[in-house]
Amino acid sequence: MTGNAPHLAVAAPLPHDVRVSFEFFPPKTEKANKTLWDSIQRLAPLRPSYVSVTYGAGGSTRERTHATVYRIRHETALEPAAHLTCVGAATDEIDDIARSYWQAGVRHIVALRGDPPEGDDRYRPHPGGYAYASDLVAGLKKVADFEISVAAYPETHPEAASAEDDIDNLKRKIDAGASQAITQFFFDVEVFLRFRDRAQAAGITVPLIPGILPVTNFARLAEFSIKSGASMPAWMAELFDGLDGDPETRKLVAASVAAEQCRALHGHGVTEFHFYTMNRADLVYAICHILGVRADDGA
Ligand SMILES: Cc1cc2nc3c(=O)[nH]c(=O)nc-3n(C[C@H](O)[C@H](O)[C@H](O)COP(=O)(O)OP(=O)(O)OC[C@H]3O[C@@H](n4cnc5c(N)ncnc54)[C@H](O)[C@@H]3O)c2cc1C
Repeated sequence: MTGNAPHLAVAAPLPHDVRVSFEFFPPKTEKANKTLWDSIQRLAPLRPSYVSVTYGAGGSTRERTHATVYRIRHETALEPAAHLTCVGAATDEIDDIARSYWQAGVRHIVALRGDPPEGDDRYRPHPGGYAYASDLVAGLKKVADFEISVAAYPETHPEAASAEDDIDNLKRKIDAGASQAITQFFFDVEVFLRFRDRAQAAGITVPLIPGILPVTNFARLAEFSIKSGASMPAWMAELFDGLDGDPETRKLVAASVAAEQCRALHGHGVTEFHFYTMNRADLVYAICHILGVRADDGA
């Protein structure tokens, strides 16, 4: 085999068929607000399919989520997607929120069950609310013809009775009207590919979009992974070993890991990626650049 075999070329260009979306969370302070908007401005020229804004656990960020979604709608050319959960609200309240979104020109909802509010150890449906995400999807579709994304779990949702039950639940969400699913973050490409096979075998044909988390703080991620059910491969621990006091190098490693992950997925036919930006632009911008997603500079 000669040294110039194309499949061995380091970072060979991709065929410009990659589409991306970005996830942000609503900021708490003025300073965080500025960071968010700087990031949105930096990433906007990459022309994401949409940008989504999360809804805090237990609906704790309701107002801030709405304000951020409305600002994106009115001050940018981006397509906003509002996350909405079932937690702590009656169906009427949630339907009203959805109606206001529709009236404001917001057409895309990421419909979730949600996690219990801080301090509550387990999820309890609101007595007059939507119990699960599939119920929420069905309810939203009655309010208006939203485009709806739902969550999917390549490593199975931690509360699911079994992996099969969890796939059945995903199918229920699609059958209720969702047109795509965004996955929980994962790091092993094989994990996603096996999940995609199982979903397809269960008759799920909508796009399954990998959620990509560029990891810069390994210690914090390890804690979060336990809650989310996403496994931390040993190779990741090894990659970040010795970098606790070196944030600059951690960032370079993080960009490289995420770009490799995306390129490997692309090799298996994945052309859409959803980035958990953590409201920061630099890493995601670099990863997108490597994937051939370039700024729309009018050229
Ligand atoms: C892309 C993405 C974005 C997210 N954004 C947010 C956000 O903005 N705000 C937030 O609070 N959280 C968010 N989350 C986290 C999410 O709310 C949690 O993972 C939550 O625990 C499950 O939400 P779900 O929509 O997947 O729930 P569901 O699809 O309703 O499933 C939850 C669990 O219940 C089980 N289940 C479903 N239906 C039934 C039934 N009828 N009977 C018994 N069990 C059932 C499922 O198998 C699963 O174990 C997000 C997650 C992802 C992957």
